[in-house]
Amino acid sequence: MRGEARSRIERMAANARHAASQRAYNAYADHWEACETCNGLGPRCADAEALWQAYKATTAFP
Ligand SMILES: [Zn+2]
Repeated sequence: MRGEARSRIERMAANARHAASQRAYNAYADHWEACETCNGLGPRCADAEALWQAYKATTAFP
């Protein structure tokens, strides 16, 4: 019982992290398509770099 509740909470936490990670990645992907500097195979601009770092932060689980 106690273990079940704990695993449910852990699953919810994992889902929340996943959703935040997806949002951060989508923000990066949207920028990539809209930005003239990043479009195609160009280098990432500062905005894209910041979005990428934000995405990476959501995937860096403690
Ligand atoms: Zn850009």
